[in-house]
Amino acid sequence: MSMTFKDVKPSAVAIEFGKPRLKCECCKRVDRPLHIGISQAEWLKAANAVGWRHVTHEAFDFDSVCPSCVAELAADVKEAV
Ligand SMILES: [Zn+2]
Repeated sequence: MSMTFKDVKPSAVAIEFGKPRLKCECCKRVDRPLHIGISQAEWLKAANAVGWRHVTHEAFDFDSVCPSCVAELAADVKEAV
């Protein structure tokens, strides 16, 4: 079983009340910028820097996964080997 971790794409960022928003497709956690006035592109870069990922697998394709779920998924892959 192979799992691929890539940077989150701009299309995964939703805009809610004028602010970008990312939702984890694994645990449903929502992340929003702490600062007002950050652009969607800047915030996406920050989200990728803290560990948000686009996770692709044979069984699923998650456009946005939070850092803690990414860590859990990565650990599952290691156990399966
Ligand atoms: Zn999550």
